[in-house]
Amino acid sequence: MKYDHILVRVGELALKGKNRSVFEKALASNINVVLKGYDVKVHRMFGRIMIELHDTREEEIIEKLKDVFGIHSFSLALKVENELEQIQKGALAALLDTRNQPVRTFKVTAKRPNKNFPIDSQSLNPLIGGYVLTNTEDITVDVHNPDVEIRVEVREAATYITCGNIPGAGGLPVGTGGKVMLMLSGGIDSPVAGYLTMKRGVKINAIHFHSPPYTNERAKEKVKDLVRILTKYCGTIQLHLVPFTEMQTTIHEKIPGDYAMTIMRRMMMRISEKIADQQKALAITTGESLGQVASQTLHSMNTINEVTNLPIIRPLVTMDKLEVIDIAKKIGTYETSILPFEDCCTIFLPPNSKTRPRRELANKFEGNFDFAALIDKAVAETEVVTIRNQAKEEQNVDHLF
Ligand code: ATP
Ligand code: MG
Repeated sequence: MKYDHILVRVGELALKGKNRSVFEKALASNINVVLKGYDVKVHRMFGRIMIELHDTREEEIIEKLKDVFGIHSFSLALKVENELEQIQKGALAALLDTRNQPVRTFKVTAKRPNKNFPIDSQSLNPLIGGYVLTNTEDITVDVHNPDVEIRVEVREAATYITCGNIPGAGGLPVGTGGKVMLMLSGGIDSPVAGYLTMKRGVKINAIHFHSPPYTNERAKEKVKDLVRILTKYCGTIQLHLVPFTEMQTTIHEKIPGDYAMTIMRRMMMRISEKIADQQKALAITTGESLGQVASQTLHSMNTINEVTNLPIIRPLVTMDKLEVIDIAKKIGTYETSILPFEDCCTIFLPPNSKTRPRRELANKFEGNFDFAALIDKAVAETEVVTIRNQAKEEQNVDHLF
């Protein structure tokens, strides 16, 4: 007898009623995507998700589940018939299967939602515990602080036994909360901002501005690599690559140097908003953090934000750089982010950017040239690639979720 299921507990206990079932359906579908290629069956059962394991790559499956948003925790589970001897044997097998860490004490917690089963839960506990004690040597019962809790649930069709919990990623299932455009540079911050946005159930489309030939092919590849890492948390991401060279050279010519950065950001916002409209995305996410650099002072944000009515989500807004780096390392984007390729923001820009740009002046300088046509051109020439988890090459495929 060995573990043959994984029992998944859904996060955000506050979610009730109809919403809950929408979330569970989305979560089951996201789990299916992440476990594509593994021999598993995903079922929704009594307010949980049960994964039938027919695959020996249990460890790999566990690692993949740790990255799925909306999972509060999960446990390997063993399914047995509703019959006392089977349950006793199952409990012992489950405990022994868990013993790669030292187990000195255990307790049994039995539940009997199936009232047709003849033994009630109070009587089941000692019957199961006694059997385990008789068949092991160096283990005792501790009902207050056990090393392992053997949980037994006698359901209608079968009994499920679990020992121990693996913490999930928390959050909400991706795809249940609408879609944003993530402004993705090649830096450390924006991938983290994308991760944190997805954590709240929101799907992301990435948008990256590049300025060939001043930014090179490898910088573009780096951004694709970052997107590919992020697909681990959601399955599929569409990446919009916006040609930005003409806009940047024009800003360089037409705008006073100390406002170039501010105007460049305003142009990025306008283009992002247009692509958001096309893609039915309801907001823009950035990796900005207050005060980090000249473009991220409150004054700058105020002047840059003026050009869009879309909500701007800034998950990192109050974080210190070190906190962001910690998350980047945890989610696997850090090593790629620190590779040294030029970002389009760093070319052409003079070093003396205003830290307190004013809206009136930004508007006035933008009057120097017909930027609207350039914005439309950049949108029209945007290249779109769909990047999928588990695939080496990007492909144009339908959205998975
Ligand atoms: P990051 O580490 O994400 O690059 P940063 O600290 O370097 O951030 P900035 O370069 O000021 O900060 O960029 C602020 C935000 O603007 C980024 O987090 C990102 O959301 C967006 N951004 C910057 N450059 C680009 C780009 N080339 N394409 C798309 N978005 C960008
Ligand atoms: Mg940057």
